[in-house]
Amino acid sequence: MSRREKVLIHAIDAYDTEAIRSIITGSLREFDLKDRLHGRLTIKPNVVMAHHRIAPSAFTRPEFLSGLIEALKEEAKNPPSITIAEKCGSGLPTTRMFRRAGYRELKKKYGVALQAIEEASKRRVILNRGKIHSSIRTAAVLADRDFLVYAPKLKSNVLSQGLSAAIKLNVGILLDKERMRHHNYDLDEKIVDLLEVGFPDFIATDGIEMACGGNQLTQHGRPLGIIVTAVNPVAHDAVCAHILNLDPAKIGHIRLAHERGYGPMDLSSIEIVSDIPLDRLRNTTRHFDLGFLPVSEVDTNFRILSGEPYCTGGCHGVFLDWLYMIKDRKPRLWKNLPPWTVVIGRYTGDVDARRVMLIGSCTQVTGRRKWRRAFRVRGCPPRHKDLVLWLFLKAGIVNPLFRFDLILDGYFFLFLSWCRRIVRGKG
Ligand code: SF4
Repeated sequence: MSRREKVLIHAIDAYDTEAIRSIITGSLREFDLKDRLHGRLTIKPNVVMAHHRIAPSAFTRPEFLSGLIEALKEEAKNPPSITIAEKCGSGLPTTRMFRRAGYRELKKKYGVALQAIEEASKRRVILNRGKIHSSIRTAAVLADRDFLVYAPKLKSNVLSQGLSAAIKLNVGILLDKERMRHHNYDLDEKIVDLLEVGFPDFIATDGIEMACGGNQLTQHGRPLGIIVTAVNPVAHDAVCAHILNLDPAKIGHIRLAHERGYGPMDLSSIEIVSDIPLDRLRNTTRHFDLGFLPVSEVDTNFRILSGEPYCTGGCHGVFLDWLYMIKDRKPRLWKNLPPWTVVIGRYTGDVDARRVMLIGSCTQVTGRRKWRRAFRVRGCPPRHKDLVLWLFLKAGIVNPLFRFDLILDGYFFLFLSWCRRIVRGKG
């Protein structure tokens, strides 16, 4: 009989660094990883965005990383050189998100390096099994590490069929240009391609407070009280899907990763060692609204006409995610959104409306068109940053991201980040 992949679920009720350290130390021993902890050790957390007011819950907490770093240092035979590497999303500079996430304290306390991937020395890596990418460019600290630790936040995500855990974390190893390539109906294949570079040696997932029900950046936290550890990302994500009452076979990136031989997704092939019975966890999350539904079914004043192709990872998902930002952080505006008609994808039928927005470069209406005002947001898909800007300029909708401090981050500090890259020759 072939060896079953093991996934450990640990109960923990608070962000207590000592308790986190103890749990992760136990896991490193359980997976017999002590002899492999040496040299260049890279930790990849999830810091797609962090902000004390509007994105406080959807990133890996610094207390969690404290416990992880202490455990890694304790178990390593020789002191490893530890780097935390990340590329955040939304067109923001990662250095600002490290600061907003509280990671600079980790640098001071533990002497770890913080590496914004876009400002790092880069390497182009050939992907022999890639279906979307034949090669990718990423940070050398990721490509050339001796040991790779993934520290995802357990989250719901409408762009990836409801779940973001270890495999989805790989989108954050890409730079902006490659990150947006095929970020459409191909997103699942794209994510799985990246496992060739981003196949972690150890995974420790922050599910103490999971983030769920809304936009991947701004959604609210819900106490769940678990840390999930594993060495196989497919088995790990399959178990996380079950914890959230999702079927892993219906989550494209898990199914494809399994089909491409990266690991098991059936519970019969996974050994779960858990402090809490899986059924009890499923019972806890049964009433969590993960927000994953067709964009045309979302309950809003917008009339959304959904055309082909349906891009969960592209325009349809991105627009749903944009809407949820308002639901998460501006509930009054959510109830009073102006009644625009929104067309996404190639729509077959007539459109008779006063005001129309067309989302995505391929969007068109094949039937009779009757409208007074229309505008298009281009991109395949458009970036969040562009949606925020164009919907403000053209429709007067002030998104929660439209804040002075984030405008500074997204333009002034982004400009400084580019300058640093040019000066250091790391563009
Ligand atoms: S532009 Fe068209 S193909 Fe591209 S993400 Fe949008 S709907 Fe999908």
